[in-house]
Amino acid sequence: MITGRYAPSPSGRMHLGNLLCCLLAWLSAKSRGGQVLLRIEDLDTQRCPRVYADAIMEDLAWLGLAADGPEPPVYQSERSEIYQQYYDILARRGLVYPCFCSRSQLHAASAPHRSDGQVIYAGTCRNLTPDQIAEKSRTRAPAWRVQVPDETIAFTDGHMGPYAENLARDCGDFYLRRADGVFAYQLAVVVDDALMGVNEVVRGADLLSSTPRQLWLYRELGLTAPRFYHLPLLLAADGRRLSKRDGDQSLENLRAKYAPEEIIGKLAFACGLQDAPRPATPAALAESFTWAKVPQHDILLPENLF
Ligand code: GLU
Repeated sequence: MITGRYAPSPSGRMHLGNLLCCLLAWLSAKSRGGQVLLRIEDLDTQRCPRVYADAIMEDLAWLGLAADGPEPPVYQSERSEIYQQYYDILARRGLVYPCFCSRSQLHAASAPHRSDGQVIYAGTCRNLTPDQIAEKSRTRAPAWRVQVPDETIAFTDGHMGPYAENLARDCGDFYLRRADGVFAYQLAVVVDDALMGVNEVVRGADLLSSTPRQLWLYRELGLTAPRFYHLPLLLAADGRRLSKRDGDQSLENLRAKYAPEEIIGKLAFACGLQDAPRPATPAALAESFTWAKVPQHDILLPENLF
């Protein structure tokens, strides 16, 4: 059976991009008799208060997209001990090291950049001696990175097709834990999807480039990787990324203007699932859903659709 998931970061109300991701995760699983679980990605508790998690659940239920469980959902903020166990597996193998680099050092003009704009870590702190570590620890709490091999990780995305990255060259040693002790998304997402039994991950194309390092973590931690489907980004009519700051696209405002089937139907039209923006329920869309209808390129929200 297909087990998909929603994994929202509740740093605000959902916007249309978040909703498209939930809709496609739901359709992809349900159209093939599967289920969808809910995990709240609130590792950063300062940015992710419970009120937003509650609002997301309420919005999903109102839209006809309620998750199938668990009840209560998985909250990442409550799972540090679990992440620690998996972190320790890598640490015991000598793959984890403290990094004292400041933000400005990391973003120095000469720093190589990834295709997604992130900095590729130069490995500055990789070979510090115990004395150097002790010395640096006096003035700064380190973050913790995992040492990646010079290896190409390739996979075939269910929607976007083949994708590959050489971890050392294209990604670099990445964070497992922040200086304040919060575990990194890359580790938490792998551990959680594996332990929740998720075998299908549907998420935005902005995370395509995180997938090789996550696949490597699955392998190193002895966990089974899911199948991945990355969906195109939904952009405003003028090509801008939608964000939670786009108040007019937030569920709060949309709910004041439209019925749930109107929102779902318009969104289904925007992403190729219907030939007109007529009202639709998720259940009706599931009957004719295939990934082949969804474009691979970014989707521009037609002007005046919402
Ligand atoms: N929490 C992430 C987000 O809301 C999604 C992570 C994932 O799907 O792997 O963007």
